[in-house]
Amino acid sequence: MQIENYIDGKFVPPLHGSYLKNSNPAENTVIATIPNSTVDDVEMAVTSANNARVVWSAYTLEERIGWLRKIATALDSRKSEVAMLESVDTGKPIKLAERVDASRSVRNFNFFADHAENLTQLRYEMSDATNYVIRKPVGVVGLITPWNLPLYLLTWKIAPALVMGNTIVAKPSELTPMTANLLCEILASINFPRGVINIVHGLGNEVGQAIVEHPDVKAISFTGGTATGKIVAATAAPLFKKLSLELGGKNATIILDDADLSAAAKGAARAAFTNSGQVCLCGSRILVADKVYDEFVDLLVAEVKNMTVGNPKLANTDIGSVISQDHMEKVLSYIELAINENGRLLTGGEPLSLPEPNSTGAFMSPTLISEIAIDSRCATEEIFGPVATIHRFDSDKQAIEMANQTEYGLAGSVWTTDIPRGKALAEQIESGILWINTWLHRDLRTPFGGVKNSGLGREGGDWSLNFFSELTNICVKDD
Ligand code: NDP
Repeated sequence: MQIENYIDGKFVPPLHGSYLKNSNPAENTVIATIPNSTVDDVEMAVTSANNARVVWSAYTLEERIGWLRKIATALDSRKSEVAMLESVDTGKPIKLAERVDASRSVRNFNFFADHAENLTQLRYEMSDATNYVIRKPVGVVGLITPWNLPLYLLTWKIAPALVMGNTIVAKPSELTPMTANLLCEILASINFPRGVINIVHGLGNEVGQAIVEHPDVKAISFTGGTATGKIVAATAAPLFKKLSLELGGKNATIILDDADLSAAAKGAARAAFTNSGQVCLCGSRILVADKVYDEFVDLLVAEVKNMTVGNPKLANTDIGSVISQDHMEKVLSYIELAINENGRLLTGGEPLSLPEPNSTGAFMSPTLISEIAIDSRCATEEIFGPVATIHRFDSDKQAIEMANQTEYGLAGSVWTTDIPRGKALAEQIESGILWINTWLHRDLRTPFGGVKNSGLGREGGDWSLNFFSELTNICVKDD
């Protein structure tokens, strides 16, 4: 399959004719070629988005909401294709891709259609005047997304940007271009206004960088690693662009001594190993109260050993491959480092060779490591793979200190039967999102984002609509 860029409503080859290979990491096979685009392709996409800006921003809010619903309906009718492509592109289990990626991509459009429909105009009365706030589009916006939840994260940005009247130049990760391409096919099939959404495929340091640098791109919404986020921020800041950064995490799962240990073990395993640990919200540091440590660890190890690593196409597979051989090497190097730092392997720790067609795929067993210092590299750096470290604490105060002992601050979960105690603890953790007795339980209206090195700004509901609009206050003096 040869994928092309989608610019001005047409599939177009890259101007310089160069292509990259795209692989299925579970089978180690090339499945597509994608444009190795350059700054010239980005220029063409920005021109297209700029030309479409006047027309799209002149649509009424109701008309734009109507288009979001049309996209959602068309995407919904191809949900099984979305799941299949996402599974093939990332190596994630098809059942996970169906339940999470495909459904949420449709939901993102419906959610922002509903949310925009219910927007109320902000008004602030004074004793002698009335303020009212209007929303204007920002203009052309640049959307840059990673490979772990490809269409889910792309549509999470596209939907609010569209409904607020912006036009888009987006770059998906070059490792996972398939579903962005499917979305373009869908846009073409429903005669979506041309030039409003433009997708340019290619490498981050060329295409991503060109989008961030372009003077006509007025806002950048970026989800990806912290190191890349720093480059994006350094590029965008002097240009005074609006900037949203959703970056990495090293999240704590905290098991208090009064927790329902069986539910907590299930929750901690899910938090650590969903999508092979390749979710920014994954709980990769498991902090356990001394009093229940042995009992909890036995339950957790049993839970993890029960997970089936296998062919992503099979319905009983819990864990598929990681994103690439290179990434697996990186993850395995962290495990080696942990062992050298006196870590104890409780389960996993090795690459797996599965039967055909997965014999050379990037599979590894879910890994739990104990007896490693809370300030070691494995316990503080984002590994972004199926590896979690386990640590003991002897008081809630120590649990908080340990949870905060990282440069990241995205998410975390606390497991306890004493909700006031859980809340008191959660409120002292330096993170943007905390769950009590659950994990990744999302209401899309709530603020989503991190503190410290996990990012800048919030997405979700009003926060996304505010980011993708320029708020203008008009103050009318009474007679
Ligand atoms: P990267 O930071 O490597 O890449 C993210 C995107 O940025 C890719 O499309 C990449 O392109 C592009 N990019 C690379 N260099 C530049 C540049 N100089 N300018 C602009 N864009 C650039 O992240 P990964 O794809 O490896 O994704 C994993 C990371 O994403 C993890 O750290 C994870 O925690 C984080 N993440 C955060 C989430 C959150 O909401 N906080 C959610 C999901 C993931 P290319 O692929 O070609 O390199």
